[in-house]
Amino acid sequence: ATPAAIMVGVGKGAGNGILIKNARSLELAKRINAVVLDKTGTITEGKPAVTDSFWLQGDETLQHILAALEQHSEHPLAAAVLAHLPGPLDYTVKDFKRITGQGVQGFINGRLYIAGNEALLHAHQLALPETLQAKIHTWLQQARTVIFFADATTVIAALAIADTVKAGAAAAVQALQQQGIATYLLTGDNAAAAAFIAAETGIEHYRAGVLPAEKAAFVKELQQQGRVVAMAGDGINDSAALAQANVSIAMGKGSDIAMDVADITILSSDLRRVPEVICLSAATVRTIH
Ligand code: ADP
Ligand code: MG
Repeated sequence: ATPAAIMVGVGKGAGNGILIKNARSLELAKRINAVVLDKTGTITEGKPAVTDSFWLQGDETLQHILAALEQHSEHPLAAAVLAHLPGPLDYTVKDFKRITGQGVQGFINGRLYIAGNEALLHAHQLALPETLQAKIHTWLQQARTVIFFADATTVIAALAIADTVKAGAAAAVQALQQQGIATYLLTGDNAAAAAFIAAETGIEHYRAGVLPAEKAAFVKELQQQGRVVAMAGDGINDSAALAQANVSIAMGKGSDIAMDVADITILSSDLRRVPEVICLSAATVRTIH
């Protein structure tokens, strides 16, 4: 496309809250035939809330410790946990670490604490306590995200968290499908939650339990099958997949890193802008032929 046509397209995008940083991506977007979507914060609001919790140890100190740990995380799940717990007392968390795709850890009063999914428990050789199994089974059937709180030797609590699908997500998926574009959902979350969200939005394919590096590998796999791939994500953990995609789209309410990496940013985080960008691209490219 001519620079002038592209400038018009970029301007039209900006008018609709679509920031096109890389003008070349606007030309390319017309050729997209696969769209990969991150779940949390992209398809869902990313504002999850705790719906149930089960504490194997009743000591309220431990609730404060979990709050202190989650206070260091910027993950949407951390905000849900914090809203549910009594405010953290002034515990100092040392050596706080994010374990990508699994959760967080830190030392409080010289003791290691972890909060995250079942994979994180396994990484610490911790098994799911017998007393929790039935409860967790029920939560997973309700498509809850289940996270655990533990120290180095013992599981202390399990929490069930629910996140709602964004208004317009199903409409966006339908519009993409009408454009002949295949849709994929990728998430670090469990298979039941992924299946539930896929069904609710009409997304054709999903993969659960996916680590950030695997998100990028999945995009590459699609490209090796000859597909032109757009990736939409919101988080730090999506940046590798965004970088791998032919066209990368960041949700404006996500992390700054995702927006730095992405070709296109959707300021409102409304997924309906994704099929619109593709239409805009087609219109822009058409102008010059
Ligand atoms: P996604 O954005 O696809 O849900 P993430 O990599 O952000 O994937 O998260 C994967 C999983 O890691 C979450 O579903 C959750 O189980 C766990 N996790 C991440 N951060 C936290 C946190 N601060 N507290 C508890 N669990 C967490
Ligand atoms: Mg995310």
